[in-house]
Amino acid sequence: MVDESSSKSPVDDRGQPCSLAMLSRRQIAWRALGLPSVTPDDQTREEQAFTVVGETLAALAGAVVGAVVYAKIVIPAVPIPFGNLGLYTGWVVIPVIFAMLAWYFFLNSIRMKRSGRIISIYLAHRKCASCGYSLDDLPKADDGCVQCPECQAAWRFDRLGPSSKPSNS
Ligand SMILES: [Zn+2]
Repeated sequence: MVDESSSKSPVDDRGQPCSLAMLSRRQIAWRALGLPSVTPDDQTREEQAFTVVGETLAALAGAVVGAVVYAKIVIPAVPIPFGNLGLYTGWVVIPVIFAMLAWYFFLNSIRMKRSGRIISIYLAHRKCASCGYSLDDLPKADDGCVQCPECQAAWRFDRLGPSSKPSNS
């Protein structure tokens, strides 16, 4: 069995250190919405299910820091235009900006903590968990692994999900 709990730095199925596939800009944009139910691609949505708590906590912590910065630093130092309207707008805008920054800053380490799960999700979608390259149509080595031609990470063939390509046999 693959240990899915200990995952400081991810390893492939031959025990070699590997990376965790980066999110595309499009995936990051969808994730920034924080609404897994509307995320269009299955893989991102499945991954979010395991990281949404950490992502939410990071964003909340950022919002708290933003509120403190606004109250303790910005309001005393900067003349806020538009009276109360400007003041209240700042109470929304500044914490939201800090929340987004904190979320983005911690996203990678949150994913790393759940890398065991995320690796399984990538493999179920027949993608290399280390680089995102497609693992379709690759030969199985003697040890039961397929090796990613792009990054050389090796994954057990039996962890790959069913091929989405129509079978011609
Ligand atoms: Zn790869």
